[in-house]
Amino acid sequence: MTEKCGVVGVSLADRAAARPLYYSLYALQHRGQESAGIVTHDGFQQHSRVEMGLVGDVFDEGDLDSLNGSAGIGHVRYPTAGGVNNCCAQPFAVSFKSGSLGLAHNGNLVNADELRDELEGMGHAFTSEGDTEVIAHDLARNLLEEDLVRAVKRTMGRIHGSYALTVMHDDVVLGVRDPEGNRPLCIGEVEDGYVLASESAAIDTLDGDLVRDVKPGELVVLEKGGTGFDTYQLVERDHTAHCFFEHVYFARPDSVIDDTLVYEARRDLGRALWEESGVETDVVMPVPDSGRAFASGYAEAANEDATTDDDLVEFAEGLMKNRYVGRTFIMPTQDERERAVRLKLNPIRSTVEGKSVTLIDDSIVRGTTSTQLVDLLKDAGAEAVHMRIGAPPIVAPCYMGIDMASREELIAAGGETEDVREAIGADSLSYLSIDAVADALSSTRDDLCLGCVTGEYPYDIDGEPSDRDVTRPDVGTEAAPADD
Ligand code: SF4
Repeated sequence: MTEKCGVVGVSLADRAAARPLYYSLYALQHRGQESAGIVTHDGFQQHSRVEMGLVGDVFDEGDLDSLNGSAGIGHVRYPTAGGVNNCCAQPFAVSFKSGSLGLAHNGNLVNADELRDELEGMGHAFTSEGDTEVIAHDLARNLLEEDLVRAVKRTMGRIHGSYALTVMHDDVVLGVRDPEGNRPLCIGEVEDGYVLASESAAIDTLDGDLVRDVKPGELVVLEKGGTGFDTYQLVERDHTAHCFFEHVYFARPDSVIDDTLVYEARRDLGRALWEESGVETDVVMPVPDSGRAFASGYAEAANEDATTDDDLVEFAEGLMKNRYVGRTFIMPTQDERERAVRLKLNPIRSTVEGKSVTLIDDSIVRGTTSTQLVDLLKDAGAEAVHMRIGAPPIVAPCYMGIDMASREELIAAGGETEDVREAIGADSLSYLSIDAVADALSSTRDDLCLGCVTGEYPYDIDGEPSDRDVTRPDVGTEAAPADD
């Protein structure tokens, strides 16, 4: 199963956690539209509401009133190519000998099958195909023998892949980020407690303050009653593997991830795009909404380089968006994706007619959208359409939880940029280089996951090369207790 999701957890003084969780999930809705769920704990028992649908449709007043307790976790989940069903809706909740467990996961384990086989061999019965249940069973098993911190450490030693988790053991809420920090997770403070969330925009929604990112390999335990939090650095690595696509596409522009405001990162990527492959045209326009910050950075850098007024470039919105159509990136079938582009975007003829246009987008996946946008702009009278892309070509799939496309579907896989340009019908096409991405994110190649643009991954994945010295844990045998 692959998924891209949003997670949240809160621990408050004596206010019910349900509404803050609900508002946080609203703020994270862009990270998943297939299902939404909240699990709370009132000190005696868990309360749960997990359903298919958008946050606003899943919960009504009665649900929020019945989700008792001042501690809870929540989740939104993204539809995948594997179909739409409620087997993998989260948070996953289970009761076992040592109490109750709720678990919300963003990411994807690459050794879930091995762990599942091993746990099934020990008598664990699974109700879903998802890797989240595998983590829950492993943690529940370890909690029978260890305290909370050691049990989490033991599970972290056995799972391999990408995970940002919010977990609730009875009424204790915790957050865990994988040792490579592939997916984001941050800590926030609100008036009467603490919050864990995939993105800081959720904390802003609660009128809270971002405290900091959860560090890669770190466990954060929110104290009961919202009085503080404890942290444990359970696993250390020399390098991180932050998903650079969080900054390029997935995250909200108003979120701060790994100390970088996503909007500023996108503007810097746009500036770098001008520096690497600027082309003189009459007008610069974004593909809304995701290309907007890139295009504003690109146009600003272009105009800084202008030596005369005639060199100044116009920055204009030339494509209008129908806001009631979802992202084409997440439409399950090719047919739906093709129809959605024309439903979603319409050109403003006066902005493009008789002009050469630089069209800026964050990425090209299958090429469906780009091809149709070039067509739309030329139909509206554009003399030339030059495409500039704020990320390198996507040449390989993601195994870390992003339902991107298979290799065969990726337009840039196995081809040259010129082949892609010809396929989408643009007059010119340039992508941003990997080094420029790393620079713009104030990072290095060694600290980013670049799997989908290099074909080399920061994890040990069957049949794929790795860009670092990494081996998945041997889970075929009974796990040793965690070291202190
Ligand atoms: S492969 Fe690409 S999308 Fe997947 S985690 Fe790595 S950078 Fe992100």
